Amino acid sequence: MKIRTAIYPGSFDPVTFGHLDIIDRASRIFDHLVVSVIVNSAKKHLFSVEARVAMLKTVLKGRKNISVESFEGLLVDYAKKKKTGIIIRGLRAISDLDYEFQIAAVNRTLSPGIETVFLMPRQRYTYLSSSVVRDIAHFKGDVSKLVPSHVVKAIAGLGK
Ligand code: ADP
Repeated sequence: MKIRTAIYPGSFDPVTFGHLDIIDRASRIFDHLVVSVIVNSAKKHLFSVEARVAMLKTVLKGRKNISVESFEGLLVDYAKKKKTGIIIRGLRAISDLDYEFQIAAVNRTLSPGIETVFLMPRQRYTYLSSSVVRDIAHFKGDVSKLVPSHVVKAIAGLGK
């Protein structure tokens, strides 16, 4: 039987309950899900790529059909390397659509075999983004309803 692998790429800076909701859904649909942290040195990040990968690994520990890694360069090249054409993206609201459609169309132009699959999180996570978490963390606010407890601790440990 052919194993169907999908890639869920993102910044995950840091991983939130919204990302985890999408990960749950995708891992139920596909045989294997690779959660991939995009290395983008042009962006300013709260956590290093290594820290983001480590956090995802801790939070997803024991999940047999999920692996976590990072990649640099074009997503279509990375997908080829992973021998899959399936990309998972989350859609929170219509406001995500413009950007996501553009990326999906570009990826399909670069590599016609690429298929982007959009998944919707449960309603309560539609407002949630890593940038909201970073903003609250900046002012030392409570993020415990937005991210897993391991991430809450990692945020508390920043700058110490
Ligand atoms: P962000 O900084 O916007 O949280 P990422 O680059 O880490 O985003 O996002 C990776 C993917 O996960 C994107 O497709 C994004 O739309 C999706 N995503 C992010 N947060 C959520 C959420 N709360 N619910 C569903 N999808 C989400």
